[in-house]
Amino acid sequence: MGKLIFTIVIIWAIYYFFFKEKKPLKKESEKNENKDLIMCDKCKTFVPEDEIIKIDGKNICKECYDNLK
Ligand SMILES: [Zn+2]
Repeated sequence: MGKLIFTIVIIWAIYYFFFKEKKPLKKESEKNENKDLIMCDKCKTFVPEDEIIKIDGKNICKECYDNLK
């Protein structure tokens, strides 16, 4: 019985590390492909498109937007 549990744990560990290694790589490549970086007109840093707020035709990042309040 002890050996069986040990075998299951080993198999689970192999699967766990296999998926753990694969997932971040996939996420990173998706990020690079789908998200355009837009320059904030205020602080001149590049931030992902979904973090940009348009104010008077200017691209403002979340951080600068919070500072405007
Ligand atoms: Zn900014």
